Amino acid sequence: MEVRCFTGGDFSQNGYVAWCEATGQCVIVDPGAAALDMVTAVEAGAGELTAVLLTHAHLDHVEGLDVIRDYTDAAVYLHPADRVMFDNLPAQAAMLGRNSPQLVPPERELEDGGIFRFGESVFKIIHTPGHSPGHVILHAEDDGLALVGDLVFAGSVGRTDLPGGDYQALFRSIRAHVLTMPGETRLFTGHGPATTVEHERTTNPFLIPTYGGELA
Ligand SMILES: [Zn+2]
Ligand SMILES: [Zn+2]
Repeated sequence: MEVRCFTGGDFSQNGYVAWCEATGQCVIVDPGAAALDMVTAVEAGAGELTAVLLTHAHLDHVEGLDVIRDYTDAAVYLHPADRVMFDNLPAQAAMLGRNSPQLVPPERELEDGGIFRFGESVFKIIHTPGHSPGHVILHAEDDGLALVGDLVFAGSVGRTDLPGGDYQALFRSIRAHVLTMPGETRLFTGHGPATTVEHERTTNPFLIPTYGGELA
């Protein structure tokens, strides 16, 4: 699997195109402000877009959906616990002083423990509430990588002060589902640079008791 990052917008949101190098099948994850660049890359690479996967339904991770919908009929997937937030996108936009995009809702649901295949590539879907109720991460175990959305960042963690956020749940999710991955696992995050499990385990100030964090 090859993962390419596309960054855009006021929040420097990272969207991703994940490719199965063997077949050219690909998925788009979190089409935000850079959605047009993502579509252009898929076209340029003659990729076959099979699905759009959303780690969660915050505006910055979904605002490019209409651009993607113009390009493809591929189904959009979201965990059902974030559906209310998707349906409240106008309120999210209003909080940011912006107009709400008119977005067609996701057709399909992501399920905890589910396996998503495209070509010969595989993502395991892991429900990781905390930043939002229906947040998921996508783990490609065979490729030693995970797309972790806004659960954890290089040197930081997802905020929990937005509607539906839960601080305790966020740390439970990180402890149970990120820190249990092999240390060399690459983490592609929703904002900022990529990192690894081991790097965050040993240096992330939110995770290390020495620095006042809560996890060993
Ligand atoms: Zn978010
Ligand atoms: Zn975000």
